[in-house]
Amino acid sequence: MPIEPDARGYFGAFGGRFVPEVLVAALDELEGAMGDAFADDAFWSGYREALRDFVGRPSALYPARRFLGEDASAPLLLKREDTNHTGAHKINNTVGQALLAMRMGKRRLIAETGAGQHGVATATVGAKFGLPVDVYMGALDVERQALNVYIMQLLGATVHPVSGGTKTLKDATNEAFRVWAAQVEESFYVIGSVVGAHPYPFMVREFQKVIGEETRAQCLERYGRLPSDVIACVGGGSNAMGMFSAFIDDADVRLWGVEAAGEGLTSGKTAAALGAGSVGVLHGSRSYLLQSDRGQVIETHSISAGLDYPGVGPEHAYLKDSGRATYVAVTDGEALAAFHECARREGILPALESAHALAFAKKLAADRGPDALIVANLSGRGDKDIAQIRALGERSEVPR
Ligand SMILES: *Cc1c(COP(=O)(O)O)cnc(C)c1O
Repeated sequence: MPIEPDARGYFGAFGGRFVPEVLVAALDELEGAMGDAFADDAFWSGYREALRDFVGRPSALYPARRFLGEDASAPLLLKREDTNHTGAHKINNTVGQALLAMRMGKRRLIAETGAGQHGVATATVGAKFGLPVDVYMGALDVERQALNVYIMQLLGATVHPVSGGTKTLKDATNEAFRVWAAQVEESFYVIGSVVGAHPYPFMVREFQKVIGEETRAQCLERYGRLPSDVIACVGGGSNAMGMFSAFIDDADVRLWGVEAAGEGLTSGKTAAALGAGSVGVLHGSRSYLLQSDRGQVIETHSISAGLDYPGVGPEHAYLKDSGRATYVAVTDGEALAAFHECARREGILPALESAHALAFAKKLAADRGPDALIVANLSGRGDKDIAQIRALGERSEVPR
């Protein structure tokens, strides 16, 4: 059984609810409705039907034979979340939350977004289910992610640029919280990763655990055994928790979370909250985060926008401290090299986020014998990153 948070929403010492008083009732209402929905088979069959017909699940488990090159003996399988509708795992979660919103009688969806991927995934389900969507986005991010802003608008969402503070995700989150508190009767707040106040980290994991469940069944069916190692990149941590949760009780399956080292863990330009951070409170829950000695959140850096987040979900903090999962970090350069190798050798352009998992998979495969069976989650496709990669103008030499 995947780990359950305690009654106060803690995974060990991590999680909880650090929110203004006005939001406590809203979170209680959500928790009650979630518990009710999760116990109802009809809710899950609606969810599974939407994943099948709209998202295109199950996604394939693909043997990447050429990516590793000649010297690696361990097989590598890629879980193809990049083939989902909208091109990443985020849609699994927004489908689930939109269904829950409708069940609760909420007529509007609110979301905040940094790189815009969660905003697009929310705008997509808003359009599908006929729910108006308001997306809050830092004014700087609105400029940097103009294409995603346009896509959200095409899908009928309203994008609100937030010009306070650093004009980025942190400010957008504060504004979205404020709006939610004011409109809590009619609005449902859609969070994009396993972060935030209880019950969000648990709820989002439950909507992403389809990744791990499918992978587990596909491995057993095709290889007659479980994987030896499971790898996923960690930004907030939702694709990783979705993958890990199906294997928590399988003590022989090693779980690897790959954070973005950026330019290096000690460079000051990193996004590795578990690898370089310390314990504190961010966005409503207690976990590891990148902060100064005085508790100020530090500006993060990663080549991949989806991993460029100063915190990490509380369940990952728990898995780190308990030793059940191991967290490593991959630099911008290593991720970029893995991107090019995957493109040239597999015919797949991975998201830069996913390229972090691939870079570590390659290292691990070199250390493992032929008995290993390594699974890496390919959390999304790289189309969104092509302009950035092109502008970098760099291409590692990859033999064919
Ligand atoms: C958003 C995103 C991530 C990071 O989010 P998690 O919650 O850590 O999964 C990873 N990969 C892709 C493709 C993304 O869009």
